[in-house]
Amino acid sequence: NDQLSNRINKMATSATLAMAAKARELRASGKNIIGLSLGEPDFTVPDFIKQAAIEAIEQDYHSYTPVDGYVELKDAIITKFKRDNNLKYGHSQIVVSTGAKQSLYNLAMILLNEGDEVLLPAPYWVSYADISKVAGGVPIQIKTSIDNDFKVTPQALRAAITPKTKMMIYSSPCNPSGSVYSKAELRALADVLVEFPNIIVISDEIYEHINFTEAHISMASFEDMYERTVTVNGVSKAFSMTGWRIGYIGGPEWIARACNKIQGQVTSGANCIAQRATIAALENPPSRIQYMVDAFKERRSLILDLLNNIPGFKTNEPEGAFYVFPDISEFFGKVLKGTTINNATDFSLFLLEEAQVATVTGEAFGDPNCIRISYAASEEDIVAALKAIKAAVS
Ligand code: PLP
Repeated sequence: NDQLSNRINKMATSATLAMAAKARELRASGKNIIGLSLGEPDFTVPDFIKQAAIEAIEQDYHSYTPVDGYVELKDAIITKFKRDNNLKYGHSQIVVSTGAKQSLYNLAMILLNEGDEVLLPAPYWVSYADISKVAGGVPIQIKTSIDNDFKVTPQALRAAITPKTKMMIYSSPCNPSGSVYSKAELRALADVLVEFPNIIVISDEIYEHINFTEAHISMASFEDMYERTVTVNGVSKAFSMTGWRIGYIGGPEWIARACNKIQGQVTSGANCIAQRATIAALENPPSRIQYMVDAFKERRSLILDLLNNIPGFKTNEPEGAFYVFPDISEFFGKVLKGTTINNATDFSLFLLEEAQVATVTGEAFGDPNCIRISYAASEEDIVAALKAIKAAVS
């Protein structure tokens, strides 16, 4: 529609949400679709968090909150950053938002001018590119490969930097690849970045607890990166609170102040009940949610075993989050059950039609050879889905 703004016409629909909508549509028409497309834990919210929300309602929390979050929630976030990430932030450096997605959107809107370049180690989370674009930025992909665990090298990072580079956004553990940067790998990237003090780093740590390897490292925990890194986190993934919509940042005060300013005009702050519940979520030690992490780890082994039994799927071992990101380019140019597969989108749609399993094309994540399969699903669903996929491609 030409009455819509150029801004929205330039923006792609979220591929993961589009796939979920398509799966829902097929389900409504009577098909039994197994959804492995969404990054959404299948657990319920832990009781201690539910109780905090119930108490907040009973205690009559109902008013607008401070735009950047309740002081008590900021206290909990400050404690959490110190406890889990060795990061020291003050109240004026924290902003609570309506999901980490809004935190990222705020950051793009307050930092990017028209034409500013945003470095995205690819594969990257779908929304980084479109959030950057809507704010006038130009996404610049830095390619990685499955043979290197989808991790960006210092050389590739350096080669992508130009005088127009304004920021870099990355996630570790990574959605969609599950890759986790070690301390040495992050330090090597920081060694390049310190030479370019104007580049701001957005470190998206929303999967920090869903990590099957070594300790999670925050970029801002390197002293020479602290002043130019914004740490983004939230409760959607680790606490299974996707619909509660709470995310937050810690970062330089001038950035937090600007996020507060934009949020004051756009949402007036995040939901008050969810904020009270998040205090309980963050005040408790991560051991309270270890049972979910353990389950994800088991499912990872299960899905990798099953995938490695299907010819044409090339996998690496994801170290965190709850996705596998197999390279399926073997199928390109082939005809499967009468359907020609030209790219990852064709393949993902083929799996939906033929195996009735919803996945997401890697094209949306900046890697056209792969598809993303979420294993935040029950073991029965994972087994049934992989059986159907095997039958469809054999
Ligand atoms: N960052 C990454 C890497 C994600 O995968 C997601 C959710 O899929 C988000 C941020 C957004 O999370 P929230 O639900 O807090 O908006």
